[in-house]
Amino acid sequence: AIADGHLDATELFETYRARAAADDLNAYTWVAEQAPAAGAPGPLGGVPLAVKDLFCTEGVPSQAGSRILEGYLPPYTATVVAQLAQAGAPLLAKTNQDEFAMGSSNENSAYGPVLNPWDRSRVPGGSSGGSAAAVAAGSAPWALGTDTGGSIRQPAALCGIVGLKPTYGTVSRYGMIAFASSLDQAGPLTRDVTDAALLYRHMTGRDRRDSTSLEHPETIGLPTAQRLDGITLGVPEDLTGEGIQDGVYAAFEATLALAQELGAAIRRVALPHADHGLSAYYVIAPAEASSNLARFDGVRYGRRIDADDLTSMYTRTRHDGFGPEVKRRIMLGTYALSSGYYDAYYGRAQRVRTKIAQDFTGAFGEVDFVVTPTSPTVAFALGAKTGDPLAMYLNDYFTVPISLAGIPAISIPAGLSEGLPVGFQMAGPAFSEHRILDAAFALE
Ligand code: GLN
Repeated sequence: AIADGHLDATELFETYRARAAADDLNAYTWVAEQAPAAGAPGPLGGVPLAVKDLFCTEGVPSQAGSRILEGYLPPYTATVVAQLAQAGAPLLAKTNQDEFAMGSSNENSAYGPVLNPWDRSRVPGGSSGGSAAAVAAGSAPWALGTDTGGSIRQPAALCGIVGLKPTYGTVSRYGMIAFASSLDQAGPLTRDVTDAALLYRHMTGRDRRDSTSLEHPETIGLPTAQRLDGITLGVPEDLTGEGIQDGVYAAFEATLALAQELGAAIRRVALPHADHGLSAYYVIAPAEASSNLARFDGVRYGRRIDADDLTSMYTRTRHDGFGPEVKRRIMLGTYALSSGYYDAYYGRAQRVRTKIAQDFTGAFGEVDFVVTPTSPTVAFALGAKTGDPLAMYLNDYFTVPISLAGIPAISIPAGLSEGLPVGFQMAGPAFSEHRILDAAFALE
């Protein structure tokens, strides 16, 4: 495979293509049939990329885990997927996910659940569960996911890999099938922190086709830090949440001890409104989703169930096309936005969101990073929470406040509990990705 001191990109692609095609975790919804025509490998060297299904890929099924988009072949490719292909990370496969990215276990996919490679009776997390399982199992070298309230960080944690949720706006959303537009952000899921930096540095940039995208003020260098001298980590005193498993907390504390050995200072920090993050998120995200999903009407995209009149066609298409969690969110969101209730729910949730963002701004006046466990539990058994949406939503307790604030955060592996991976989450101010990656590299 090594010719003239270079790994042959076609051979590398073929090796991973065969692995992805042989996957038995249900991590993929589509695998490339052949390597792309050999060209210049680019700075990413031709290392192939698995991409969450909700990224539009020209001529390749892009179904966002939903029956309503079954067989949908977009006429264009998402900006970020095109950017990475251009940089030398060609499309290897599309990965399974919760329907329209709504979920924390990948059990809401119309294409079946994904299994966690650490223990096949357990979930990989969600909603980017296919991407996380693929990277953890070694059938893809690296992957793209999206994070609205935790969907990169939580599956990365539950599968023992690295996941980066960037600053909102730094990665174009053009071509990403929308869930909650003010929160959705694409990011890398990788085996280590250096890989996350390698992918992310080629994902940023202002895209005139996404009005919320903006230029990252700095180039993302590769991480090099060996120590954490002069860095202060803040542990939120208000985010103690019930339901944290003892083993998860022990692994989190062991990582704090390691950070101290490396020179970091640890202190408590106040985030007085963060505990209300879940309540605000589960109003705002469904509200935006109910609006975004109005476009799936049987006319413009994907599936249509024919009927005698237009209204029945809409109703039957949406009745058959959407799964139960998506319907629940459309109903919640429509209710929250309806006249007479708007102020009581959506308006109030937006005010809580502002308070949470201000809490983080205050905290970053005192500490460099805010750290928490990524998820309160290790990977849970398939089916354990499917009957209880509120129990499922509690998975997002530590990740959602960061999403509401629009700031970047990483999840890195922090050892095991009960033989299963635990994630350590580190959040920083907007545009601090390079510093986060550097600190995560020292801890890795
Ligand atoms: N689990 C959360 C939800 O169900 C977050 C999902 C996400 O980040 N896409 O909404």
